[in-house]
Amino acid sequence: MKLIIASGNAGKLREIRAILGGKFDEILSMKEAGIDHETVEDGATFLENAQKKAREIAEISGCAALADDSGICVDALDGAPGIYSARFCGRHGDDEANNRLLIEKLSGVENRNAHYACAVSIAFPDGSEKHAFGKLCGTIVDNPRGNGGFGYDPYFFLEEYGKTAAEISPEEKNRISHRAKALQALLEQL
Ligand code: IMP
Repeated sequence: MKLIIASGNAGKLREIRAILGGKFDEILSMKEAGIDHETVEDGATFLENAQKKAREIAEISGCAALADDSGICVDALDGAPGIYSARFCGRHGDDEANNRLLIEKLSGVENRNAHYACAVSIAFPDGSEKHAFGKLCGTIVDNPRGNGGFGYDPYFFLEEYGKTAAEISPEEKNRISHRAKALQALLEQL
């Protein structure tokens, strides 16, 4: 069976191929499959967004489709920014402004606990679906550290490493990430 990934992100594609490669004859990006489609992410949860993306691509392509949705949830902010992580500051994908706002909102706040969350969903052409979740816990630090990763990583401190998620190697990050855990949990169901 052919699997189409509802994402154009090269890092995600590599990670998904490495974990689910043994279960499918072929794993293609939307671009490789010749699909140009943008899903409106208007779900109330990570899972709703992932399911919507996967369903739409499965319907358009007639193949199995996999999608994910992820973000950062901060305890002291009641789980925000959550599904709005990419556009916390009001503009999509402005990591610097998102981080600035996060640190501003946590000014003087003692509880710095947070987690990255990821939902993955796979939709099959017969209408059946499977999904799974992954989580990576950390704390938010005021001063950025490291040049790796993306998004909130320079401010996301991993106690067990004594480093931020931007300071560990990409291989290590892909091994422990919320996305890797969600994909592993999905693999166990396939
Ligand atoms: P997406 O699910 O790939 O669209 O990610 C949504 C947003 O969540 C990203 O734009 C980042 O702001 C944040 N995010 C998700 N995963 C990570 C991560 O591993 N590190 C840093 N930020 C992340």
